[in-house]
Amino acid sequence: MKRVIHSLHIIAIPLSFLLFLASSILWFRSTKVLDDHSYHLSSPTHRTYTSLGLRTQPGYLLFSWSHGRWDLRADFLRDDPLSEENLAANPFHPRPGFNHRTTSSRASGWSFWDRQRLRIDMGTLSTPHHMGGFGSISYGDVSFPPWFFPAISSLLPLLYFRRRLIRARRQRRGLCPTCGYDLRTASEICPECGTARQPTSNPAVSS
Ligand SMILES: [Zn+2]
Repeated sequence: MKRVIHSLHIIAIPLSFLLFLASSILWFRSTKVLDDHSYHLSSPTHRTYTSLGLRTQPGYLLFSWSHGRWDLRADFLRDDPLSEENLAANPFHPRPGFNHRTTSSRASGWSFWDRQRLRIDMGTLSTPHHMGGFGSISYGDVSFPPWFFPAISSLLPLLYFRRRLIRARRQRRGLCPTCGYDLRTASEICPECGTARQPTSNPAVSS
């Protein structure tokens, strides 16, 4: 179990660091341009339309999703935003598959404190055919302040570097790097926690 946790740790730190870099770049980029990534898929067989989106703008980073299901094929064929007919009628609608649009950034219009909040909005609309509707749709979006991911993902790497610093400092002072026990008079193994003593001047020893 300890091994598993240790190997998870080994993977989590570089991953977290990568996430930190990527989200920091996104944060910086969001102040200059508005990025709109989205994925759209419709299925005539299942009469469904699904879209996923990620948008960055000064003030927030927004994930959104929606999934609609039509009761009748005829209704679906009329409404499907990705049908050739509807795409021709609305040339600005994203195409099937992945889409990316970059435009110059606009402020979100939210006040400073509005922008520091996590917002979640989701719901379901259901108007079945027998009630005069088309079917059902579920939708939602979550928006994060742009600093949220850089802040969260910096925690693990910061803790890691802090621990490295503490260990290095203990070793320099002749203390056990793991628990801080004074090893200057002790043998090769820490009597407190059992950590093997490492030579202070390190002649190419790998652990
Ligand atoms: Zn120790």
